[in-house]
Amino acid sequence: MTNPPSALPDDRVANAAFHPRGDSRQLSAGSSPTPAELTDCLFFSPEDGRIWLNDQRMLLLHSSSFGALRGEVIERLGLEQARGLFTRTGYASGARDARLIRERWPQADAAAVFRAGTHLHTLEGMTKVEPLHFKFDADSGFYEGEFLWHHSCEADEHVRAYGIGQDPVCWTETGYAIGFVSGLFGQMVIFREVECRGMGHRSCRVIGKTAEQWGDVEQDLRYLNVSQAVTSTTLAPTPEHPVSRSARANPPQTLVGASAAFNAATQALQRVALTPATVLISGESGVGKEMFARQLHQLSHRHDGPFVALNCAAIPDNLIEAELFGVERGAYTGATHSRPGRFERAQGGTLFLDEITSLSLGGQSKLLRALQEREVERVGGVRGIKVDVRVVAATNIDLRKAVADGTFREDLFYRLNVYPIALPPLRERRDDIPLLINAFLTRFCQEYARTPAGLTMRALKVLLRYDFAGNVRELQNLIERGLIASDEGQAIDLVHLFRNEPMPADPYGLDDHGSLSNSGPQLTTTAPRPALLDTLGQLDQGFSIDGLESRLINEALQQNAGNLAAAARLVGLSRAQFAYRLKKHQRQTP
Ligand SMILES: [Zn+2]
Repeated sequence: MTNPPSALPDDRVANAAFHPRGDSRQLSAGSSPTPAELTDCLFFSPEDGRIWLNDQRMLLLHSSSFGALRGEVIERLGLEQARGLFTRTGYASGARDARLIRERWPQADAAAVFRAGTHLHTLEGMTKVEPLHFKFDADSGFYEGEFLWHHSCEADEHVRAYGIGQDPVCWTETGYAIGFVSGLFGQMVIFREVECRGMGHRSCRVIGKTAEQWGDVEQDLRYLNVSQAVTSTTLAPTPEHPVSRSARANPPQTLVGASAAFNAATQALQRVALTPATVLISGESGVGKEMFARQLHQLSHRHDGPFVALNCAAIPDNLIEAELFGVERGAYTGATHSRPGRFERAQGGTLFLDEITSLSLGGQSKLLRALQEREVERVGGVRGIKVDVRVVAATNIDLRKAVADGTFREDLFYRLNVYPIALPPLRERRDDIPLLINAFLTRFCQEYARTPAGLTMRALKVLLRYDFAGNVRELQNLIERGLIASDEGQAIDLVHLFRNEPMPADPYGLDDHGSLSNSGPQLTTTAPRPALLDTLGQLDQGFSIDGLESRLINEALQQNAGNLAAAARLVGLSRAQFAYRLKKHQRQTP
């Protein structure tokens, strides 16, 4: 079998086990994916400014502005070039939808999978597709299909601008059909309009066959950007879509993302990596600051040296200096051995200091000195030790504010803030959520030796709109937990992801009448809230401020799967304040 041809190589549906054979006449109406199941893939997050088709972000575009764009491209590029451009645009959509179907319904009957393309094409509003018949056998390389396209949007726009003409005009739709069927079939299947509303016919009639069956497909391939010299199976390369490139080229545990915010951060990272500059990474807990620091180290000239990480908040105040700068024997009670600090251990490499604001003012001045003099002195030591270390500091609170509050040295701030990189929270880069889900699923399925069965549609919908106070780490925890809680071969559902936590409200989807509605429990209710004291009065055994605090702390912790920082944010405390209160209440509970 030949390689799946595609003008967008990574959009092909690579699945060697899929040898489709089928016939539309042997297809029962109820086989998955049904129109209702496909419609369920489309949902709206109006409060978030996104429309999703499964895990793909979609766009609601005015048909008339599509027509205006199309007209302008025709004026600028000429008819032939414009036709190629729109054919390829359609191809990309079709190939993406083919991948969606294969990923979402890996077990589905082949003929039902092919029919799903006609439903999706219709659902996306380009045209109403009526399949007349189709028959295919991938092993022998046979495909033949005939379809009617009713009230094609592109034909309407074309006729509006140019009137009835000699040639078919549904270029995007044709590209879509080629992309979808070729993507599934694993060979180039060319569609041609033999009748078109743009030529005065009532409906458009399209016929699809393999390149070999048509025989003469040079012109069709040219529209797909395929040069004549090559065969139908080795297409001229076009730039890969960045979304999938990031997801595939990077093994799990490295940076995954494709959103604008993510790209801005990685570009900044690449720019500074080869310089010796000190870098300050800021961002909420769980956004992946250490992962970025490791990547920075890998990209730098120091990549053969050590990468040493220290979370300053994890070390008690009185030990942090010994940890950072080392200690000489006898420096204090219990210092029975001399040992090097993290600075010395990072010699020739990178030292990552997380939660830098947890350093005491004394520690801060020693750090400043180490940065300025490139020299550290062990606790209890008398001589300076030269260090060649690049420091990457990270903070989850606003350092400028800490300076204003007097808890952080201004001179150290300027010393660290040479090249700041701000990592956005996950809820501001939602387009990365599907990529991250895939990366975590792949990784945990390997670790737990499980066969991936993916997520249910409603679980995906909830994750795409979830707030993620704990950011990437929280998503990672949810996926791992979901995999553990679900059975082998079973798709991960809401009950596996969330136990007692409240879930986001259902998104808006299409109901049976095609209207947007959101069924299911609403969390973001605006109902008037009862007075707090009335609510508290209904607690089982009355209440005390102290007991209430203990309960809040514990519930916040449970809701965030034990993530301190996320729990702290939920109740409006700093991590340190939260940890202090947690300890206090743990002591009080026998
Ligand atoms: Zn047409």
